[in-house]
Amino acid sequence: MLLSVKRIDKLVGYADVPITVIVELYSEGRDLDETIEKNILNNEIASFDFECYEFDVICLVDGWTLRDWMGLRGTQPLNLPCGLKKSHSTYLENYKAVADNKAESKREQESDGRHIVTQQADASQVVDRSKKAVGLTIMFLAMIAIFTGIFILSVHGLGSYSHLGWLFSAIGVIGLIASALTIEGSGANDTRCQKCQSNRITFLNEGEEYKGTYSKQESVLNKNTGYTEFARVIKTDFWVTEYYKCDLCSHTWTKSYIRSTTSN
Ligand SMILES: [Zn+2]
Repeated sequence: MLLSVKRIDKLVGYADVPITVIVELYSEGRDLDETIEKNILNNEIASFDFECYEFDVICLVDGWTLRDWMGLRGTQPLNLPCGLKKSHSTYLENYKAVADNKAESKREQESDGRHIVTQQADASQVVDRSKKAVGLTIMFLAMIAIFTGIFILSVHGLGSYSHLGWLFSAIGVIGLIASALTIEGSGANDTRCQKCQSNRITFLNEGEEYKGTYSKQESVLNKNTGYTEFARVIKTDFWVTEYYKCDLCSHTWTKSYIRSTTSN
């Protein structure tokens, strides 16, 4: 007689708690000949090979009977199912803590995994490359449209095809604006933190330091004559320092440049 008992749990968290499968072999007149015992974990199969007149199969967990089949007979191979269900929870009180600890540590591992994922891929650190590619493609097509328009206008002047030339040029200009907006939206041109590449940046403060005043020869527009002419102007320079902070990694940095004011 070939017998196999396969365990498939419907109750999660107790896969390592063994189920004991006991096979009791009887001779005619129900005299107990032999008892065979095997432990199985979740998804395991207990296999038995024996000769007898009649047999019982009992599945136990922690001494409690989950399921039994009494007075089985026959010669064909037999497959029996077993497994832990929700209704068996009361039998598993001795194991609960263990199972909970395992579930807890599994949850911790999972949340650790999530933490790493968020660290790796904060949205503010990523440039939308496909959006940037779309923007560059639109820009390329827009340039072709503009050059086509200019070409038509240069060949046909204000002749019969000129409206086509203007049309192509207009499409090209609209395309250039659309591509600029798309590339801007991808975050490719954003100011970013040098440390973590995030674009979540806060402008903290601005400091201005007087550097000096000097006179300089410059071309200026004479409003009376309408012509540009050279004139001496007074320039004052300030050393400007801007303070920034990254919202993501708290990195701080400064950006400095010279701001010039002009007075006559
Ligand atoms: Zn940062």
